[in-house]
Amino acid sequence: MATSVESTQSIVPTLVGGTWQPSVSTRNGEVFNPSSGKVIAQVPLCTEEETNAIVAAAAQALPDWGATPAVERARVMFKFRDLIEQHFEELAALVTREHGKTLPESRAEVQRGLEMVEFACAVPTMLMGDTLPNIAPSVDAETNRHPVGVCVGITPYNFPFMVPLWMFPVAIACGNTFVLKPSEKVPLSSVRLGELLVEAGLPDGVFNIAHGDRECVETLLNHPEVAAISFVGSTAIAKAIYETGTKNGKRVQAAGGAKNHLIIMPDADLEQSVKALAASAYGCAGQRCMAGSVAVAVGDVADPLVEQLCDYAGTMRVGPSDGDENVDMGPLIRREHLDRVSSYLDVASGEGAEVALDGRGDFGSDGFLLGPCVIDRVAPQMRVAQEEIFGPVLSVVRAADLESALEIGRNCPYGNGASIFTGSGYAAREFKQHFNAGMIGINVGVPAPMAWFPFTGWNQSFFGDLHIQGTESVHFYTRQKMTLTRWFRSAEESHVDPVWKTARK
Ligand code: NAD
Repeated sequence: MATSVESTQSIVPTLVGGTWQPSVSTRNGEVFNPSSGKVIAQVPLCTEEETNAIVAAAAQALPDWGATPAVERARVMFKFRDLIEQHFEELAALVTREHGKTLPESRAEVQRGLEMVEFACAVPTMLMGDTLPNIAPSVDAETNRHPVGVCVGITPYNFPFMVPLWMFPVAIACGNTFVLKPSEKVPLSSVRLGELLVEAGLPDGVFNIAHGDRECVETLLNHPEVAAISFVGSTAIAKAIYETGTKNGKRVQAAGGAKNHLIIMPDADLEQSVKALAASAYGCAGQRCMAGSVAVAVGDVADPLVEQLCDYAGTMRVGPSDGDENVDMGPLIRREHLDRVSSYLDVASGEGAEVALDGRGDFGSDGFLLGPCVIDRVAPQMRVAQEEIFGPVLSVVRAADLESALEIGRNCPYGNGASIFTGSGYAAREFKQHFNAGMIGINVGVPAPMAWFPFTGWNQSFFGDLHIQGTESVHFYTRQKMTLTRWFRSAEESHVDPVWKTARK
């Protein structure tokens, strides 16, 4: 389909060693404004050669930055934090423009990203090691944390601002240098972050941006100077990144896709639950890795739940979000994605489920719009209950009791988030203890941890060991050194190794 161009065909630059450079690549991707359906920029898909040059710039900046006192590195983060706050509204508008989520949703995203920078500002405290004086006679033991080297971040389209900030503030504050490869669908927020980092006084080469697709990513995965890879995206790619990265001897944390369950018990506050379900399933048009995707209605709550959910979701205002504060739900990222998400309604009908609310319609816009959808009487083995749809589609599975709901979780290959809505402390506790997912909500629709807590996806939703966010991220971006120290009072004492002397006793 031919695309119209909204403004000038600006080509997004790369950031290499502190300089904004046009790419030499002859391959480009298109950046859309999903609200209008128009192209707003071209993004280069970097070649292997220029990706190598970007890593080289990061490697060159590493020794000086790693030797910069942690307190000074933190000061750059404080300035960066202030700049984000000063440009808060502009940044939220940019997220809405290239992604399509509503302005309030973009503001929430910028706020969550800002908190990651605030977390990174505390890095001097977080880098402190442990000591045990006199672990053996005259011997002191200590650990401390060192940067790992050049770190890479590869990010998805659904949080253009926040997900890059899950990674580089902590990595950089820990003394590493960084290459960010943002989603080629939404590169503009990352470029703006780079500009603000430069303005904050970050030395050249500490933060770099490469754009691209598979060629660029594979170059990064195979580059000998890259020490660590942080990835967020779909499960198939997360798994492949983890396998290749670790095979090449790199640290990898790779967050993947999700299928999140929302359990509604018969004793739940139904009005509150319906609002929370709608916010979870339809927020950001369902394009969140923590979006509720399967509602499990327990016992006799199913009929009133479906009825109230359809009534509530049916009144949501759907439209172009760019510049309109009154829209409840904006567009999907691309027309192909809209078509893919919509097709699940036919898949569900074909498998015997009932489409209780069909969001397909004419919204009087060329934006990639789809209204909220509810599919009722979904069986746990149906595709809509198993596959990540990543759009505003909520499937309702009816379960006899809590144990049946837990069983549905046990059979799910993903394991990001799950929530229960109940008035029973016992049910909440059983759910918290036994549901097969890493992030649990109790009467909370989107149990996404904030910066200070790790993003603890399980199963096929995460590949690796140390998660993104919280102190686990500091551990991911540092390696420990342990030092044993002994000083002798006299030459005579130095003939005995006190560690072994203690052990023999
Ligand atoms: P994606 O996997 O298509 O792309 C993610 C990144 O990988 C992009 O930078 C892309 O350029 C790159 N990439 C894509 N195909 C590649 C290939 N063949 N080889 C190498 N690199 C490749 O994901 P997306 O569509 O941008 O984002 C949506 C997905 O991200 C959803 O599955 C969502 O659940 C997931 N997500 C997960 C989390 C989490 O914390 N678990 C958070 C946000 C998004």
